[in-house]
Amino acid sequence: MTPQKLVRPEILALKAYGVADAGGMVKLDAMENPYPLPPAMRRELAEVLSRVDLNRYPEPSGRELRALIARKMGVPQGMEVLLGNGSDDLIQIVTLALARPGAVMMYPAPTFVMYSMNATFSGMKAVAVPLREDFSFDAAAFIERMRAERPALVFLAYPNNPTGVLYPEADLVRVIEACEGLVVMDEAYHVFAGRTFMGRLNEFRNLVVLRTVSKLGLAGIRLGYLAGRPEWIAEFNKVRQAYNVNVLTQAAALFILERLEVLEEQASLIRKEREILKKNLLGLKGVTVFPSEANFFLVRVPDADRAYEGLRRQGVLVRNLHPGLKGCLRVTVGTPDENRVLLTALREAL
Ligand code: PMP
Repeated sequence: MTPQKLVRPEILALKAYGVADAGGMVKLDAMENPYPLPPAMRRELAEVLSRVDLNRYPEPSGRELRALIARKMGVPQGMEVLLGNGSDDLIQIVTLALARPGAVMMYPAPTFVMYSMNATFSGMKAVAVPLREDFSFDAAAFIERMRAERPALVFLAYPNNPTGVLYPEADLVRVIEACEGLVVMDEAYHVFAGRTFMGRLNEFRNLVVLRTVSKLGLAGIRLGYLAGRPEWIAEFNKVRQAYNVNVLTQAAALFILERLEVLEEQASLIRKEREILKKNLLGLKGVTVFPSEANFFLVRVPDADRAYEGLRRQGVLVRNLHPGLKGCLRVTVGTPDENRVLLTALREAL
């Protein structure tokens, strides 16, 4: 009895989502917020967490946290919130729920790999529509393909990962209006773009908004949320594992999101640093920088494997997207010091 005989061929063919060992490195590979919480807040949080009853299961739907998120994140009246163990969990929940036999998932590509991975897990057919050369969105081509494929599910990352590009809102509205399936607006990076469809949920019956607190500064607690009409949320809630958001995550998020301004302040620092980093990257010979409204840049270099290894040798970890994305690295915006280290190392590594 070997796995090769028993495991589904499409799973055998997959590669596990790779995460490089970052021990002792300047970590610019995963779009994390580089800033810790202020020390006083950390001490207060420790006190709060010390009171959590670890012997009890979580309140299953995270009622209090859902209410706080609705209030703090501008979820419109009448819409509901579903919590996930990261937004990865919610991508899986939505995909599983919509994976009727023969159902199609569509997305512009390149994009976040978890969409296609979940299509594979659930037996959905994944249809990737290429972005233009410069990674801008060709809405007409996408809509034409939608007419042929009639997807049950469309993922739009707003802004997109790994490119950082923010598609024009009007183009996405055209897609939502032309789509007979559900559109998931994945707003993982919305704090860095300042754009959102949250306030427009009421306008479309087939739209839900997916968010995460990961990029905001809480990647370690694993918390995502999905906002949408109660009738969608009710179905997805059936697929959710009963206790998918643990007590420590719920308690930490309740405490920290009540003080959201601390994280928003950090995001605004990151946005300022993004502009400085962009200018400096553009100054490097042979480097193409794609426009980003997120907390990272996609850059094209003459030899991505060489640059990646050169950076690694100098203690800087970025994401190597080559050969899938020819000649491309993705670099997260770090602290001013980290960005300086990156630039010096990259000059050396090119
Ligand atoms: N959506 C997008 C577009 C992402 O880039 C990521 C993380 N790389 C996620 C969702 C998942 O984030 P998390 O599971 O940490 O919430």
